[in-house]
Amino acid sequence: MTTPPGSLPDLPPLPLDFHLLAAQHRYGLPTDWQWRTITSLDGGFIELAGASPIGTYQRGKRKGLSKFPPKASYRRVIITHQNVAEARHQYEAKTGMCSWCQGTGQQVASISIVNGITCRPCPHCNGSGTATLIP
Ligand SMILES: [Zn+2]
Repeated sequence: MTTPPGSLPDLPPLPLDFHLLAAQHRYGLPTDWQWRTITSLDGGFIELAGASPIGTYQRGKRKGLSKFPPKASYRRVIITHQNVAEARHQYEAKTGMCSWCQGTGQQVASISIVNGITCRPCPHCNGSGTATLIP
């Protein structure tokens, strides 16, 4: 997949956020909750701090983007690398697709206005798009 040189490339859909999925699963967070900071802690723990949007910016350079409450009111949750791995396993068991490329078999290699978007085969599934974590 490439876009014509000189045109601003359409970004491919963002890959699923398995840190968010693990946190939602473990803490029952609202579906619109988003982490705003992510911190790796000692011992295999990961701290996510975030909130649900409280609206969108109506004007200015951030017009249309989600607005969040003050940082001091963010909810802090702790997950583990194991939780993230379990979220990947659950996705692959449910869909049969590779959790890294979500079945596309592709990974974005570079994004450039000059050269457009360049993809390469997903290294986790060797470009097949099928699940690799489950037997
Ligand atoms: Zn893949």
